[in-house]
Order: sequence, then structure tokens, then C-alpha cells
Amino acid sequence: MDLYEYQARDLFEKYDVPVLKGIIADTPDEVRAASETLGGVTVVKAQVKVGGRGKAGGVKVAKTPDDAFAAAQSILGLDIKGHVVKRVMVAEGADITQEFYFSVLLDRANRSYLSLASYEGGMEIEQLAEERPEALARVEVDPAEGLPLEKAREIAVAAKFPAELIEKVAPVFVKLFDVYKGEDATLVEVNPLVLTGSGDIIALDGKVSLDDNAAFRHPDHEALVDAASEDPLEAKAKANDLNYVKLDGEVGIIGNGAGLVMSTLDVVAYAGEAHGGVKPANFLDIGGGASAEVMAAGLDVILGDPQVKSVFVNVFGGITSCVAVANGIVAALGILGDAATKPLVVRLDGNQVEEGRAILTAAAHPLVTLATTMDDGADKAAELAAA
Ligand code: GDP
Ligand code: MN
Repeated sequence: MDLYEYQARDLFEKYDVPVLKGIIADTPDEVRAASETLGGVTVVKAQVKVGGRGKAGGVKVAKTPDDAFAAAQSILGLDIKGHVVKRVMVAEGADITQEFYFSVLLDRANRSYLSLASYEGGMEIEQLAEERPEALARVEVDPAEGLPLEKAREIAVAAKFPAELIEKVAPVFVKLFDVYKGEDATLVEVNPLVLTGSGDIIALDGKVSLDDNAAFRHPDHEALVDAASEDPLEAKAKANDLNYVKLDGEVGIIGNGAGLVMSTLDVVAYAGEAHGGVKPANFLDIGGGASAEVMAAGLDVILGDPQVKSVFVNVFGGITSCVAVANGIVAALGILGDAATKPLVVRLDGNQVEEGRAILTAAAHPLVTLATTMDDGADKAAELAAA
């Protein structure tokens, strides 16, 4: 889960990372009030989960509460790379002398953590990495050792901070790593980390991604979920304990076992090339027990996706026999009734396959087509989606 900047700011504050005060606001009037509360120069910042807000006109410095009001009028409702701004943060203005970059992230390929840091901030990190790679230090951080002050100094030196700044930034790196570790994050990024006119180091922007697999250790993370921006189908699937990921295509997919579902996605994408380029519409693993309720909940989610034109049910009967799966499909169609409107291609194999197919054949549901192999099923489903 990615956090909004204001949520990252709050976490930073909790870990004693130096930040400026910020107040969130949803209307220009609230922004004016927030600016009055903070006093002095403020900055109105779009809260969207996408970078490059500054360049897109989503970050504006305001000298007075009236300026802040006007800035809010231009930022609220702004579309930044497909994200419409519904909320802003009004932050205390910083007197910036210099901008730096710091991040720590999960380095899956090396089964380790990686810290990136640069004395040359102020430009986008992708651009810096491409144009001036030598200015961007990459230092591995051993998960078992963490980031003691000594190591943080090493990073500052590698990032080419001058001697007089090292003792200022290194403790901030340590605290940012505390956030990363303490919150089970996969990314903590500060761009820019700034030096102010009065000589302070401040994290002026924060990007934090939390590891959802560690959610059980952080009951407080639940409150950070933005229900409004969550995909409604994914939310529905989650409420039914289904392992569902929405994709961009037209062929709905249901399978049992993550491996089988992944290969089904590949086979459908391949088959789709011969049918106008149709693609899988989702990942949905119904797991071991393909009961009628689970099948109905899965179909309900998939059929709720207006992009879906056909559904491919690909199940390999193991502990759950094909008889149970076939009965599940028939019962699910009964439960859904008129809500089931799109053609279903079903491929069953494995435990009690003949009996399972016989059940579907006998039910003779007008929307259901039986396929004998995975390739056939994928091809048929792709053809129906293209029709
Ligand atoms: P991003 O564009 O989405 O990364 O948003 P940032 O929060 O990083 O803001 C973009 C830029 O706005 C920063 O790099 C700063 O140069 C500038 N900025 C942000 N906050 C302040 C502030 O308090 N004072 C001043 N003068 N500039 C700021
Ligand atoms: Mn930034």
C-alpha cells in the first residue's frame, strides 16, 4: 500500500524525522483557515499517490491565507497523471538553501535493502540516475545489521555530502531507516530532503510504501487505507476473502491455485492474439475448496467488471473433486440468476473429471461451454470475448 504524502509526514513525525507542520484540507475555505493557523508562508500541496506534483502545478507557495485560498482553487480538482486532486496538505513554508535525495527500499533481486542517496537533489530521481549516475550513491543495507550511525555516515560520504553536512544528515538517515524497519515498509523516499537557511535538515516530501504482507503486525495500518481510492471490485473480493487482482482485459479468469491461474493468464493472453488482442481481465484464485459460495462470490466479482466479455473457469480437481466444482458452478449460476449474463467456458480436469463434466452437461446451462483442454478453453473464451 502506498501512502499519501501527509500520511508519510505523520509517520516521519512519529519517528522523530524532522518535518514541517502540515494540515490537510478538502476545500479552499479549509485551506485558508489552515494557512491562518500555521501563519507566515505556507505551501499548498496536492495529495495524490503519484510523483511529479510540483511540475504538474500541484505544489504552490502562498504568502498569505488569500494566496493559499487561490492556490487551493487551482489545485483541487486538478488531474495529475490521471489522479484527480480531492485533498491538499497546507504545510509550513521552508526556506530552502539546498535540496538532497535519500531513500531506502527493498532490493528483491539481492535479498537485501538498498539505500540511494544524493547530494544533488531537486531533480527527479529517474532523471538523475540516467543523466548523472555517478552523483547517486547506491549502498546496500544489510537487513540484519540495519542502519547504525556509522553506516549512515558512509552513505552520506558516498553521496558526496560535504564534511560539515555529514553529521547533520546521517542521524536523519538513521531515523528514516527506523521508519522503514519499524513500519515494515518496502520504500521510504525523501525528495527533497532540504537544508534550510537556519541550517536545519528537513524531510520536505515523503513517499512511503508499506508491505501488505506485514499488515498483521500493524493493526494501525488499516486506518491508512483509503477506501475511496481502492478499486471497488478488489474491495468486494477482499471482503469475500478472494485472492483477486483486477487487470485490464476482457476475459475473466477463475482458477484454483496461484500457479494454475498465472499460467491461465499467459495462455489466455497468447490465445487472445488470434482474436483481436483480447487479454485477461483479472487474476482470481479460488483456492482449494471450490464451494458454490466461493464460486458464486468469484463469479459475482468478475461479472461486476463491465470490461469483462467472457469468463474462463479453469480448475484442476485435486483434493476438491471436479464433482464438487461442477456442482459449485451450477449452484453459483443459480444463486446469481439474472446477474449471470456473460458466457462461461469451463475446463475441468483431475479428480473425478468425467463425473464433473457429466454434471455440467446435464445442467445444460445456456451460458456454459465445456472445453477439454486449457488451450481450447482459452481459445474459446478469447473468441467469445472478441465477438
Ligand atoms: P513532487 O513534485 O510531487 O515530488 O512534490 P514535492 O513535495 O517534492 O515538491 C516539489 C518542489 O516544490 C520541491 O522540490 C521544492 O522545490 C518545492 N517546495 C516544496 N515545499 C516547499 C516549501 O516549503 N518552500 C519552497 N520554497 N519550496 C517548496
Ligand atoms: Mn518530491
